[in-house]
Amino acid sequence: MSLMRLAYASEATFEAKPVEKGVEPHVARILMTSRKNNAKDQLVGGLYYGNNCFFQYLEGEENAVRSTYDRILKDDRHRNIVTLIEEPLGSRTFSNWSMKYVPLSRDVRKFLDEQGLESFEPASFTSDQCEKMIELIRNSSHDQNMVNHHDRKSVGETPQVLSSGMKMGLIAAGLVLVGALVVGGSML
Ligand code: FAD
Repeated sequence: MSLMRLAYASEATFEAKPVEKGVEPHVARILMTSRKNNAKDQLVGGLYYGNNCFFQYLEGEENAVRSTYDRILKDDRHRNIVTLIEEPLGSRTFSNWSMKYVPLSRDVRKFLDEQGLESFEPASFTSDQCEKMIELIRNSSHDQNMVNHHDRKSVGETPQVLSSGMKMGLIAAGLVLVGALVVGGSML
C-alpha cells in the first residue's frame, strides 16, 4: 500500500457570510463532510480558509487521496484549483486527525509577515512556503471549529468576546447606574 501527499490552493466561489464566531457556514459544511469521509478513508491533513482562498493538505493511501481529490476537483464551491504538491510519501506525518484547522490567525499573520506576503494567496506559494504552511497546520495543537476567513488586515485581531447586543446592554446598565448615582447624590 503506497502513501502519497497532496496540497492545492483554490478560490472560493461563495460569498463568505459574516460570522461573529465559529465557522463560515459554507466552510462548516465542507469540513463536516470532509471529516466524515477522511476519517473513513484514513486521510489526514488540514484545510485553511482565508482571504476567500483555500489551502488544503492531504496525506494517506494513494487511491484514497486520488479519489478524494477527484471529488474535490469537481466541487463547484471553489475554482481555479492549483495543485501545489502531489508526490509519494514514505510515512505519515500527521496523527489522529481526519482534518485539522489552523486555529490561531496570529500564526498565519506571523507566517505572512515572515514571508513578506501582503495577503493570503496560496496559489502563488513557493514549495518552501507550502512546506511552512503544512508545518503550521501540523503544529497547530487545537481542534477548534474555527477557521479564519478574513484578509490580512483583520488576521490576528482580538476575537470578539461580547456580542453587540451584550455591549448595548452593558452600556444601558452603566447609564442607569450613573443616573441613579446622580439622583441619589442630589437627594443627600
Ligand atoms: P455528499 O453526501 O454528496 O454531500 C455532503 C454535503 O455537502 C451535503 O450536505 C451536500 O449538500 C453538500 N454538497 C456537496 N456538494 C456540494 C456543492 N457542490 N455545493 C453545495 N453543497 C454541496 N471532501 C472530502 O471527502 N474530503 C475532503 O478533504 C474535502 N475537502 C474539500 C475541500 C474543499 C475546498 C471543498 C470545496 C470541498 C471538499 N470536499 C472534501 C468536498 C468534496 O468536494 C465533495 O463534496 C464530497 O467529498 C462529497 O462527499 P459525499 O458524497 O460523502 O457527500
